[in-house]
Amino acid sequence: MSIVETLSLEPNPKRQKIEPMFNDSLSCVHSFARHGVCTACNSMIEKRHFRSFHYYSDGLQISHDALALTKRVTTKFSCMSDKKLHLVLDLDHTLVHTTIVTSLTETEKYLIQEAGSRHDLWLLKSDDDPVEHFIKLRPFVLDFLKEAHKIFNMYVYTMGNRCYAESVLELIDPRRIYFGKRVITREESPYMKTLDLVLADERGVVIVDDTRDVWPDHKSNLIEISRYNYFRMSNKQCSRAYSEERIDESECNGGLVNVLRLLKEVHCGFFSVKEELESKDVRLLLQEIEFSRGLLHE
Ligand SMILES: [Mg+2]
Ligand SMILES: [Zn+2]
Repeated sequence: MSIVETLSLEPNPKRQKIEPMFNDSLSCVHSFARHGVCTACNSMIEKRHFRSFHYYSDGLQISHDALALTKRVTTKFSCMSDKKLHLVLDLDHTLVHTTIVTSLTETEKYLIQEAGSRHDLWLLKSDDDPVEHFIKLRPFVLDFLKEAHKIFNMYVYTMGNRCYAESVLELIDPRRIYFGKRVITREESPYMKTLDLVLADERGVVIVDDTRDVWPDHKSNLIEISRYNYFRMSNKQCSRAYSEERIDESECNGGLVNVLRLLKEVHCGFFSVKEELESKDVRLLLQEIEFSRGLLHE
């Protein structure tokens, strides 16, 4: 059970029947709410003191103070008990490349026949969306998730909508072993990405994303992965796409392989001295690794 759940977020069933109280003079001092109502005293909460975590549990809101504590405790707990850090993964161009089927070029149209027999290429049809998509898994992605899961609690964080994220997860984590409920989408975070929505201390969170600019406040947590393009992106693209050449990124030396190596290095550095665990910070470790690699390349 996660820290948040152990903090007894489920409102007492008896309390659910009580109508919310409007308290004009003082807002309540409690930390958790559901759909604007405090789970402890049933007062209406003041929204500005809370942040929403709908993705985690329906209607869940956590006060800023409690959030800081929850993050600290979560990181401490996962370090101590599982020896795990937290990892936030982007979807598009990081784990998969998705395109609209009708935008395939003549040279790419052979993929329509191949889709049914390949494990890395899927046709996405949905009742809500008349546009059909092709989702191409990045080489090594399933091995990457399996390995990263051993040393990280993982989140998906995408600018795509929830329906799309769920479709990709059906392919890469159908039983939700890796991600559980930890899936943040455009609905929760429409403009920018932020670690405020991740239930873990920033010193223990690594981000892997191909787009640096969407993380205005957390660049020091970020590993910028090489952008995975499988399909032709536009007519202006000079080089032929992997799909057109009928080739793909390397399985043994591609973006995810290299990032996994780096993640293992960070994890190893974090847990190197047990007594120093409380003061370790992935941001410093990433900086040190980048620095020493820079020296290597000089
Ligand atoms: Mg991306
Ligand atoms: Zn209250």
